[in-house]
Amino acid sequence: MRRKNKFGSIIFMLILIAGIAGAVFVSFSPMFESVVPKISMKNSGFWNFKEPLHVSISDTSGIKSYKVTLLSKDEKIVLNQEELSIPENDISFNIEAPKHIISFKPDKVTIVIEANDASKWNFLSGNVAQEKFVLKVDTKKPHLNVLTNSMYIHKGGSGIVIFKADDPNLSEVYIDVNHNKRFKPQPFYKDGYYISLVAWKITQPSFRAQIVAKDKAGNVRKSTIAFRLKNRKYRLSKIKISDRFLNGKIAELAETFDIAQQTEDKIEQFKIINEDIREKNEDLIHKTTSVVSDDKVDSFAIKPFYPLKNSKKVASFGDHRYYYYKGKKLSESYHLGLDLASVKMGTIKTQNPATVVFADFNGLYGNMPVLDHGLGLYTIYGHCSSLNVQSGDMLNAGEQIASTGMSGYAMGDHLHFGVLVQGIEVRPEEWMDRKWIKLNITNTIKDAKKIIDRQ
Ligand SMILES: [Zn+2]
Repeated sequence: MRRKNKFGSIIFMLILIAGIAGAVFVSFSPMFESVVPKISMKNSGFWNFKEPLHVSISDTSGIKSYKVTLLSKDEKIVLNQEELSIPENDISFNIEAPKHIISFKPDKVTIVIEANDASKWNFLSGNVAQEKFVLKVDTKKPHLNVLTNSMYIHKGGSGIVIFKADDPNLSEVYIDVNHNKRFKPQPFYKDGYYISLVAWKITQPSFRAQIVAKDKAGNVRKSTIAFRLKNRKYRLSKIKISDRFLNGKIAELAETFDIAQQTEDKIEQFKIINEDIREKNEDLIHKTTSVVSDDKVDSFAIKPFYPLKNSKKVASFGDHRYYYYKGKKLSESYHLGLDLASVKMGTIKTQNPATVVFADFNGLYGNMPVLDHGLGLYTIYGHCSSLNVQSGDMLNAGEQIASTGMSGYAMGDHLHFGVLVQGIEVRPEEWMDRKWIKLNITNTIKDAKKIIDRQ
């Protein structure tokens, strides 16, 4: 009896150890993992039946089989089904809408995705996952209608457009132009209408602007704005760099900028200042003036700018400047503002209400306030001797902004007046011309409002 008992408990112990070992093996082995496959499908909650839906499934023990079913109000269609002879850890595929459902167009569909993994869990049958995605069906492109736009746009100049964009699931509206720039329209006057200034960048030989409207289902409508293009020639000027200039202004500027001190060579210092530092200063200007509000615009009563009274023009917008030293070309740049001079420390005023968005030293531009006039229109005032405003100030028309000077890269007391549309420098002359503003901006807005009120 005793022996038999001892023998029995050894057997029992062995079974117990085997059992524990088995349990340990099952719980640690990927062959017996108990996690269901992970199913995901890229979607916006909408489907236009055109873009395929992208599905991915992953599992540590591998996917053995999967099935995708489409359910609509009165149909059940298997879109995709597969048994994998060799289980895979990650699979992804696209599913397309069946042809007949495209013409049938239900309001919504449910995509059911089921997947079974290769685990030995659940008495060898593996783990099963199921995900359901309810998608609203929208196969209609947004509706786009240009109401009015300024008739002409000049190279280096500005234009305006007012349009209607309609879609129950509208997600994005913008204006694309050929020079890799996207303009952001603002809601205008009444629901569904938009307004935007656009600019033809001076460095671009041609111009094309297209409104793009997208909905949440991925339907896209594009509409080209029928601007008449006016080419414009800008001056090419050859500027001789003198030793006096290198030892004077350039030496003085080089002391201001750390990066210009990496070399003793005056010519190299000039290139660093005219290229690297200029680029950095212009980046700041472009960034500051690219901001457009999401607020609804009711009017845009802009008045001609005339920042410096009794001034005369000393340099034009758009001059393409080539710099030579002893007959050798050193560098080039575009002059993207209008230089005005009157008396020393002349009073600079704004003729339009504005919010000051920057008022500080900006390298070659010296002391420089930046004013936001709304609708993506900004003005900048370079080389000031002193500033009367600070960032955040709200200005009324007629207020003094600063006094002219020669801070930064300036050889004499003057104002560098720049106008920007959503971060693009444009011809200030247009925004200083009462007739141009009336014809291109004010009347275009007035005409659009008349059309909207009739609709
Ligand atoms: Zn200038």
